Amino acid sequence: MSENTTHTEDDYEKICYICRRPESKAGKMIQMPNNICICSDCMQKTFDSFTNSGMSYDDMLKMSNMPNGFGGMGFDNMNMDIPNKQKIKKKKTEEERQAEHIDLRNIPAPHEIKHMLDDYVIGQDYAKKVMSVAVYNHYKRVATNTMDDIEIEKSNMLMIGPTGSGKTYLVKTLAKLLQVPLAIADATSLTEAGYIGDDIESVVSKLLAAADNDVEKAEHGIIFIDEIDKIAKKKETRSRDVSGESVQQGMLKLLEGSDVEVPVGATSKNAMVPLVTVNTRNILFICGGAFPDLENIIKERLNEQSSIGFAADLKDKYDNDPELLRKVTLEDLRNFGMIPEFLGRLPIVFSLEALTKDKLVQIMKEPKNAILKQYQKLLELDEVKLEFDDSALGAIADLALEKKTGARALRSIIEEYMLDIMYEIPKDNNIGMVTITGDYIRKTGGPQIQMRGMATPAIEAK
Ligand code: ADP
Repeated sequence: MSENTTHTEDDYEKICYICRRPESKAGKMIQMPNNICICSDCMQKTFDSFTNSGMSYDDMLKMSNMPNGFGGMGFDNMNMDIPNKQKIKKKKTEEERQAEHIDLRNIPAPHEIKHMLDDYVIGQDYAKKVMSVAVYNHYKRVATNTMDDIEIEKSNMLMIGPTGSGKTYLVKTLAKLLQVPLAIADATSLTEAGYIGDDIESVVSKLLAAADNDVEKAEHGIIFIDEIDKIAKKKETRSRDVSGESVQQGMLKLLEGSDVEVPVGATSKNAMVPLVTVNTRNILFICGGAFPDLENIIKERLNEQSSIGFAADLKDKYDNDPELLRKVTLEDLRNFGMIPEFLGRLPIVFSLEALTKDKLVQIMKEPKNAILKQYQKLLELDEVKLEFDDSALGAIADLALEKKTGARALRSIIEEYMLDIMYEIPKDNNIGMVTITGDYIRKTGGPQIQMRGMATPAIEAK
């Protein structure tokens, strides 16, 4: 760990070795040798069991200060340091809190948030706009903290969009720009408490870890739950639906905002991990999913509506409608298997569009950290110029479209073609420029190589 990320012991709360509650909950701790702390409740219980054996509390305290601890119990031989990831940051003083309090004037306005997102995320203008406004309102609500007279509703969001259209990327970029902790969880791994899988509260544990175990920082963070469509109510099931409907039920109180007791540094509660209370009222929840088949549900509804009149002949009217997902209603999502209470706690529903060939080309070259820019920079260090001509970009986009995983496929495709280039170029110091062509991508030719200091036409590598 580097100097500036190490924390002193004083930054963390003491945790009772026996019941695993932190000092803020269990009260003052009694310090024992080897960094072991015991809360007064547990001490009392231990004492009670000792008195049954005829020992007084004073005797016991004396013993606890002896090098060997509780006589035969030998704390000295144990190394019971709590792992760092399970330590909880101490609560801040009122002054520190004021200094850190989100200042309304510091929250960027929606158009500024969108503008910042534009530097990284291509297209998805509608989604960016909705998110910018929602996030702005959310943090305004957190900053003013006026929950008394007019209660501003929480801006939890539900994002619907095909794989690789940038859902996770949007949220990640947003959290980075706003400098708030972010936890990304997968709904498929969640199960009702007590079943195999992660408890629902584990998403809050993840956020706590992302916030460096600082409860107050975590309470202003963002939780992104991906693959939310996978916890739709199972259509026909005779057994208990522990990973579908019950997970939706279990998430209700998290989404709404309540005090939850979460394990620190673990995904489920057990006797060995400390627990801490986190209030989720100001945590922004964003759920995302591809919702396959939702389009058919929307289409069916729209067709039904139009067939009521005399437009029954337009049955295929919506088949190729690129804006179909935008027409989603709560009724459609309910038909998909999301329960009404769950949907009620995600007031902002919006969709992302599938990326077209043009958008994929833009994604390769335009964002601040575009893949092509990354490779260009790498080769620049060898003083070699790298270019992709338009036909190459088109061919890569075509290959990505075939894979049907949106922009996610781009990197692996480019990596595959760049491997040879990155291997061969450093062999020859005379190479000054490489141009990747459509023929190279389609495997019908090689890249164009230009030697240093030569203005002559490029030669085509074999
Ligand atoms: P999903 O919608 O399945 O969550 P991701 O957000 O994980 O998709 O996208 C995968 C990768 O594709 C991202 O890491 C990002 O690099 C790239 N990507 C996807 N959509 C966009 C976009 N609209 N603009 C720029 N890059 C994108």
